[in-house]
Amino acid sequence: MVTKIFSRLTIDQKIVSLIVLVSLFSIIITIGGLSLNHFMSTQENTRREVTIVSDVIASNITAAIIFRDNFAAKELLEALRAQSAIEYAQVTDEQGNVIAKFGRNIDMSASSLVKQDLFQVQVPLIIDSKQIGILSVVANNNHFNQQIKLYLMVVIAVIIIAFLFSILLSTWVQRRFATPIVNLADVANQVAKSGDYSLRAPQEVGGEIGQLLYVFNDMLRKIDQRDQELEALVKNRTCELEMLNQQLANQAYYDCLTKLPNRTLFEDRLKQSIAHAARESSKVALMFIDLDKFKQVNDSWGHAAGDELLCHVARRLEQQCRSMDSVARIGGDEFTMLFILEEDDDINEISRRIIELFQVPFDILDLSLMVTISVGVAIYPTHGYDYDILKLKSDEAMYKAKRLGRNQFCIHQ
Ligand code: GH3
Ligand code: MG
Repeated sequence: MVTKIFSRLTIDQKIVSLIVLVSLFSIIITIGGLSLNHFMSTQENTRREVTIVSDVIASNITAAIIFRDNFAAKELLEALRAQSAIEYAQVTDEQGNVIAKFGRNIDMSASSLVKQDLFQVQVPLIIDSKQIGILSVVANNNHFNQQIKLYLMVVIAVIIIAFLFSILLSTWVQRRFATPIVNLADVANQVAKSGDYSLRAPQEVGGEIGQLLYVFNDMLRKIDQRDQELEALVKNRTCELEMLNQQLANQAYYDCLTKLPNRTLFEDRLKQSIAHAARESSKVALMFIDLDKFKQVNDSWGHAAGDELLCHVARRLEQQCRSMDSVARIGGDEFTMLFILEEDDDINEISRRIIELFQVPFDILDLSLMVTISVGVAIYPTHGYDYDILKLKSDEAMYKAKRLGRNQFCIHQ
């Protein structure tokens, strides 16, 4: 039962109760033992004092009894007045007749004496081995009772002081040892629940507990630091992965050299445009463009110049695209474009403008290079309904433009 109640208390309450209980127990045991000893000796002393005084009176009063001098006997008894503990005294002869007495009349029966908290001392008066009378002295325990009262007050005061002192001591122990441990447990709990490693246990004490708090906080700091490092690492890795993903997507859909859409992306856009045109009853022109005599550029000025020229061509073609049009490099010196048309004839003007784009030389690596193009066009739905047919027909038209002398466009007939 006690163990059960004790185990339910917090560590603070346990420390307070233990210190208070232990100190009270030891004080009560010590004071109890001392008091018992003191009470017994005090009572004994009172009895002894009364007995000594009675013995002295008895030895003096014997002569008065022999000479039947009642007055002298009374005088001697009067001397007992100085003893505050003595209530009553009397001298009787061998027949029990009272010769002299002092003090108020008292019922001398044993039970009455106990009731009144009195005790009696009887001294036989003996002359030549013959008892001639008895001196009876009745005394009170007032002195003893006063001593007990005083003693009890002192005991209560000592217990109160000891109790207060034990409370003070336990408060100090609590602040010094229990509170830091309770705080530590609280912070450990919060960290476990929230996963927040930036929390710290208050470090207000030194010694072994201070060392424990320091090590605990240091451990949290290291975990927190490692957490942040890991978070930063994961962030970096995620960024790198996203960039790689982006690069892969670019490689899959864009031409590395000119950054134009590649064949795959262009085919997809063309198919979407055809589907859209089918719904809207509009038209889509597929333009196939091949640079004229591009090999000579490579041969004359080097491959790097050829690459540079391809990039410049790409930028010029891009400038001619409206938002719904599209341009792509599908390989070598071949480019494709798609235009949304309202009428088939619109493509003539567009083709002319594209050819004219190449009438201005390109500034490449300190060179001013002229390059022309041959262009072939096929129109949806006029020349075909799907990408493959339109591609084939625009390709044929482009070769026709080459055969006709290059630097011109041909629309599939
Ligand atoms: P044509 O007028 O008949 O088209 O003559 P051409 O010299 O342009 O011949 P063709 O179109 O058949 O040749 C294309 C050349 O483009 C072949 C190849 O050397 C060159 N080429 C292909 N890819 C690249 C590239 O990425 N960079 C460079 N610099 N040259 C390329
Ligand atoms: Mg060519």
